[in-house]
Amino acid sequence: MFTSILIANRGEIACRVIRTAKRMGLRAIAVYSEADVNAPHVRMADEAHLIGPAPARESYLVAERILAAARKSKAQCIHPGYGFLSENAEFAEACAAAGIVFIGPPPAAIRAMGLKDAAKALAEKAGVPVVPGYHGERQDVEFLKKRAENAGLPVLIKAIAGGGGKGMRRVDRMIDFADALASARREAKSAFGDDRVLIEKYVTTPRHIEFQVFGDQHGNVVHLFERDCSMQRRHQKVIEEAPAPGMTKAVRAAMGAAAVNAAKSVGYVGAGTVEFIVDGSRALRPDGFWFMEMNTRLQVEHPVTEEITGLDLVELQLRVAAGEPLPFMQDDLAIHGHAVEARLYAEDPEKGFLPSTGKLYALNLPQGDGVRVDAGIEEGGEVSPYYDPMIAKIIAHGETRSEALDRLSSALKSTIVAGPKTNISFLHRLINDAGFRSEKLDTGLIERSLEQLGAVEQPVDTAAARVGALSLIADSAAARARQRAAQSNEKNSAWDVWCGFSLAGPLSTTVACDVEGSRMAIAIGWDGRSACPGETVDASARVIRADGQVIVLRNGRQTRVTLIDPLDVDLTALDGASDGVVKSPMHGKLIALLVEAGASVEKGQKLAIVEAMKMEHALTAPRAGTVSAIMAIPGQQVAEGAKILTVAE
Ligand code: ADP
Repeated sequence: MFTSILIANRGEIACRVIRTAKRMGLRAIAVYSEADVNAPHVRMADEAHLIGPAPARESYLVAERILAAARKSKAQCIHPGYGFLSENAEFAEACAAAGIVFIGPPPAAIRAMGLKDAAKALAEKAGVPVVPGYHGERQDVEFLKKRAENAGLPVLIKAIAGGGGKGMRRVDRMIDFADALASARREAKSAFGDDRVLIEKYVTTPRHIEFQVFGDQHGNVVHLFERDCSMQRRHQKVIEEAPAPGMTKAVRAAMGAAAVNAAKSVGYVGAGTVEFIVDGSRALRPDGFWFMEMNTRLQVEHPVTEEITGLDLVELQLRVAAGEPLPFMQDDLAIHGHAVEARLYAEDPEKGFLPSTGKLYALNLPQGDGVRVDAGIEEGGEVSPYYDPMIAKIIAHGETRSEALDRLSSALKSTIVAGPKTNISFLHRLINDAGFRSEKLDTGLIERSLEQLGAVEQPVDTAAARVGALSLIADSAAARARQRAAQSNEKNSAWDVWCGFSLAGPLSTTVACDVEGSRMAIAIGWDGRSACPGETVDASARVIRADGQVIVLRNGRQTRVTLIDPLDVDLTALDGASDGVVKSPMHGKLIALLVEAGASVEKGQKLAIVEAMKMEHALTAPRAGTVSAIMAIPGQQVAEGAKILTVAE
């Protein structure tokens, strides 16, 4: 076994790998970017090396910097985690050339499965059924259009270099084909530097079932059962579980054998995942599944497999990489209970799931029977705009599916995050959604249920705003009182204490606040005889202080409140309405302006596209009117809050 390991990653997966490495007695070496100086993975490791500035392409994606850190620290092996360099065959080769073991499959296997078109061709050859469509060389629009027509609508355009749902567009009408193709290509080019695509028949009511496979250097390949990852949004997994509901012995045997064959066809070694698509509108059948792709790394969702098998997949990866044979054969493996994972993201479901960044003023992750949390960030830390905005994975295990879901549900209920917006309440509703509970799984469930899941624009929580305003007033009054008391000779004089005493009786006033970016006048009142202001309010709300602002948590929502200097504003003019300025909701690049100055627009109309974290996000008109000013140009980097354009009434 190795005695040292470098982890070429960050966040929860780096922490998770370090945990196993240390348990096995290895010296754990972390690498980090300038944005991650204070990150937990840096502190957990035995030593850590700075590899460059915050942007991943200048740090976590630079093979040479990572190899230099590995040489300097005398690391014997490198674990790439997922994302970044994990599926980069050149990096695996460079490790070998430097005499360092890459924890993953041979470079040839990565390469063979790296592009979706080649992988499909390979799978076909290995006798594994694939989704019909076109996965050849030709890329001209007219030709691809023909092939889409032949396959029959709807079709899916997929970047052959794709991953994480990027560069993928569903097309339902031929007139949309060219636009969808252009958009898929743009996203693919920016995310993968390769804009080639393939065309696939869109499987109606698709359900995503994948098999965890494991190979060793002695020719053994087994599968560790399946995971159902059908709860997706924009082709990205949200909830994953194992085993797959409705799975039968016969279907598992057929799919498992196909997965093992696909892995064997490329001489697979280590942990891998073979993804299949099935028709979710009917029961699973031994002849009703199609290969989509193989991921040649550890998956985000590997914990659910660990929970039902009792295995540590990172330990297995290390043992296999060190040349040990797999310690079991297929028939030795069994499923214990049921496990579900929810991905807790810093994103705003009420605003189209826009990534949300910033400091975590509060972070309380759940604990309890059968609950596991894999996190890579902690209270006081920052969700950075440079990386994937996942805060943690919350995993629950139980005897049965419903027990696991109940445990996950209460775990989510007890999770507290203040700062960036999160999907906690969305996940909680999804876990308890009747369709999901009744095992009617397909990848369209979330998109169909956005309203029930609370993932639609909601009015400002005025009750929370009042709570926030009161507590800000109380804070500043308390600060004044403290100051006065400090200067006073009579320390216990009632005149110099703010709380607990009032000559005026009930008070009320109106204050100007910024609530979630809208200026509002908020009427607050309190009963001066009973308590300090701030104590007489909604007991279900929780107030978190956040650098001069407060964040009020109430009914699963966060409301950010700041006091505005009353001398600055005319209280009577504050109605919470939009001022018509369209701002970039996050750091990113303005990639398209869809309107020109002077254009008249409808409320909700798409006006511009900002790309962040390799995904495109549309900015929409906050009200009907005329585009009166444009303050940014396509191609420009825009900061969070940067003004893009104005819609005048
Ligand atoms: P990525 O590598 O970007 O994750 P995948 O090929 O794994 O892309 O597909 C991601 C998701 O998109 C799948 O889990 C599935 O929900 C959906 N999907 C992929 N191919 C099809 C298809 N042919 N028909 C319907 N849905 C599909």
